[in-house]
Amino acid sequence: MIEILNPTELPRAREAGALVAGILQTLRSRCGVGTNLLDINLWAQSMITEAGALSCYVDYEPSFGRGPFGHYICTSVNDAVLHGLPYDYALADGDLLTLDLAVSRGGVVADSAISFIVGGSNPPESVAMISATERALSAGIAAAGPGARIGDISHAIGSVLSEAGYPINTEFGGHGVGSTMHQDPHVPNTGRPGRGYRLRPGLLLALEPWVMADTAQLVTDADGWTLRSATGCRTAHSEHTIAITNDGAEVLTLPKQAQP
Ligand code: MG
Ligand code: MG
Repeated sequence: MIEILNPTELPRAREAGALVAGILQTLRSRCGVGTNLLDINLWAQSMITEAGALSCYVDYEPSFGRGPFGHYICTSVNDAVLHGLPYDYALADGDLLTLDLAVSRGGVVADSAISFIVGGSNPPESVAMISATERALSAGIAAAGPGARIGDISHAIGSVLSEAGYPINTEFGGHGVGSTMHQDPHVPNTGRPGRGYRLRPGLLLALEPWVMADTAQLVTDADGWTLRSATGCRTAHSEHTIAITNDGAEVLTLPKQAQP
């Protein structure tokens, strides 16, 4: 199903997006060497609850996971890239952490993910990988607007990732967002321009380029949720929720300091 928001619903989508962006920035600022993934989950839970919002994750039980997720945020470390189930682990200097958060506020979902390096070290390959997903996300957003097609976004994202030298997995990608988290249309991280669903004002999309350093193959962790690179290499992931407007695309999950 593809949902199209009417103009009166856009302010609620903006509020949901601002909440997700704010929580992610707060969590990022609190994450340091020694921070436990379970504490990140508790902080996310309290911020979502205090805002009167609903977690999209805690009861989520899709075909690709084992039972309800049971936590409020995905915490994926190093070789873990998607759906990282928080567990009793204290972050170490140089860990590459991805936080992925989706909440529903006012009946509208926003979904965003950030990757960053914990502590003071900056491993160059990890920095480059995070940068590639961020640049791919920007390219995808720039390709979005009324009249553009899903393939235009996919092509823009895939071109950046390929030129940066990363293999692209097509099992998981971006998606429509609305009253629920995962909706049509699917937005693959590679594709052909001019193909696919034509975008219209009121459509919300979560764009989410993610890569693994040297493989396109995922393996599922023993926890039944966390997806890791098959080779054990590092991974990165960047995601924003955008709204297609009459003029282009509005990013709903930009952190405050990055807003114009
Ligand atoms: Mg997400
Ligand atoms: Mg998503």
